[in-house]
Formats: sequence, structure tokens, C-alpha cells
Amino acid sequence: DELRHVLQQRASPEPAAVRASRHTYTVDALRHAIAAGNLVNHYQPKVDLATGAVTGVETLVRWAHPQDGLIFPDQFIALAEDNGLIGELTRTVLLDALRHAHQWHMDGLPLQVAINVSMDNLVSLDFPDVVERAVHESGLPSGSVMLEVTESRLMKDPLTPLEILTRLRLKRIGLSIDDFGTGHSSLAQLRDIPFTELKIDRGFVHGASRDASLRAIFEASLGMARQLGMKVVAEGVEDREDWDFLQGTGCDFAQGWFVSRAMPPEQIPDWVADWEV
Ligand code: C2E
Ligand code: CA
Ligand code: CA
Ligand code: CA
Repeated sequence: DELRHVLQQRASPEPAAVRASRHTYTVDALRHAIAAGNLVNHYQPKVDLATGAVTGVETLVRWAHPQDGLIFPDQFIALAEDNGLIGELTRTVLLDALRHAHQWHMDGLPLQVAINVSMDNLVSLDFPDVVERAVHESGLPSGSVMLEVTESRLMKDPLTPLEILTRLRLKRIGLSIDDFGTGHSSLAQLRDIPFTELKIDRGFVHGASRDASLRAIFEASLGMARQLGMKVVAEGVEDREDWDFLQGTGCDFAQGWFVSRAMPPEQIPDWVADWEV
């Protein structure tokens, strides 16, 4: 098992070492990259803990930079948010994700596809209609699309995002609260927004089997989500210990390097065919 894991990590398309780029990027460079189609979607599998089945994928955007190689989103998402580019970025990511998911469905692989949205996406009341139309035009059933919402800052006007998220839910788009337990992803949101899924942040998952405090926070989050009727995903499942720990908890889904790193869309079908725990 360990050997398999080491080999899998070696074969991984996203070694941790390439994550840090030496450069910072300008708004103009990013705007150009979006327009030129240089943002590419990679996908990380999400696995049902009880059956081991691959049920879906999370879309993780990368910037395929002509000189610097693959740039990770922590180096350009905030730049997009701060400079009015996040709407266009999200549109690109969504359309590509729908196209890839449709292809997988056609190939007999009915994966649910999740995309990340930030609160800055939830400012215009026509966003739900835009998403609905795109899903409809892609030919995918609406239940196969999920939005993962991260709140990176305090909201100025929480009423608009709340209204938008409620409308999305009415359109049968799944809603996931991301990074639960960190930043501004908070209990208040659980009261107000009809989330269907909760993702417990890596910080409370990796190593939880060896740390009683982490375990307590993990189990409390899980229990609360259960009472609210939400599915629960454990993020950052990095090793066999994390995986084994989760088996005993009743958590629904696992995501993390133990299962797989994110990969380009064309690798997904073979990966799913080869996957076993
Ligand atoms: P996230 O949504 O919490 O995504 C999970 C991040 O953890 C990803 O980093 C993923 O590659 C990484 N990861 C997955 N499994 C493991 C693991 O086992 N261990 C560790 N240490 N890390 C793991 P990535 O791809 O660099 O994305 C970072 C963040 O950028 C994402 O965090 C998300 O908030 C944001 N992001 C990514 N794509 C998009 C997008 O299209 N739109 C927006 N608005 N944000 C995005
Ligand atoms: Ca996410
Ligand atoms: Ca997350
Ligand atoms: Ca995160």
C-alpha cells in the first residue's frame, strides 16, 4: 500500500514543489490570460467513503503560463477578485467544467462537477439565471452541478449573496460551504443559507486520528451537518491514517492526495477506471 501510494504520488501531475512561482502577476497579464484561454481546469476526484466509488470531481483552476508553467490559484484568485475579473474568470471555469462533465457523461461516467465561487461572484441577481442557462445548454442534469462557496472576507451586504444562493438552490444547483471552520465560513451562514454539503477543512482532517482536539472539532462539525441534513466531505485526506480514521466516523466523502491530486480532464476516465482503495 505504501509503495502504491509513493508511486501514485510520483506519477502525480502536480508535484508540490512546482507550486511556488517566483513571480507576482499583473492585472493586465491575468486579463489577457483569461481572454486568451490560458486558464485551464484540473479536477480532483471525490470519493464515497462507504463504497469507494468516485462520485464527482472538484474543478481547480490553473493558469497555464507560457513562460512560468502552471500557476496555482492562490497566486491569482485574489487578484481577480480585487480587480473586477472574477466574474469573467468564473464564467470561463464554469463553461469549461460543464463541457468536460458533459463529455464524461457521454462516455458513461456520470460525475458530479463542483466549481468554486467566491462571494464576489454573488453580487448580481442574474447570476443564478446565468448558471441555470449554462447548465441547461450543456445538456447536463442540474443535479450534477455543485457550487462550492468560500467566504474570504466579511460581506458588506450579506442580503444579496443570500438571495442569490437561495435562488440557485431553487434551481437545483448543489451548494457546498467550503473550508468549514476557517476564515469567515461560519455558523451564521449555516443558519441563513440552504447549503446541501459541508466541506470540513483540511486543518481538522489531516492528522485527526492522532490529535484529540482536531477529532473533537471534526466530529462536532460532522454531527452539526448531519442535524442540518447536509452531506459531509473531508478535505485534505493525505494518508492512509486519515482515510482509516474517516471510515469510522460516518463522514460521506473524502478528497485529498491519498485519493489523488487534481489532474487534467483527459486523465479522469482512466484514473477512475484504475482507482481502488
Ligand atoms: P479549495 O477550494 O479549498 O481547494 C482545495 C485545495 O487544496 C486545492 O488547492 C487542492 O489542490 C489542495 N489539496 C487537495 N487535496 C489536498 C491534500 O490532501 N493536502 C493538501 N495539502 N492540499 C490538498 P489549489 O488548487 O491550489 O486551490 C487553492 C484554492 O483556490 C481553492 O481552495 C479555492 O478556494 C481557490 N480556487 C481554485 N479554483 C478556483 C476557481 O475556479 N474559482 C475560485 N473563485 N477559486 C478557486
Ligand atoms: Ca473548494
Ligand atoms: Ca476547501
Ligand atoms: Ca481553501
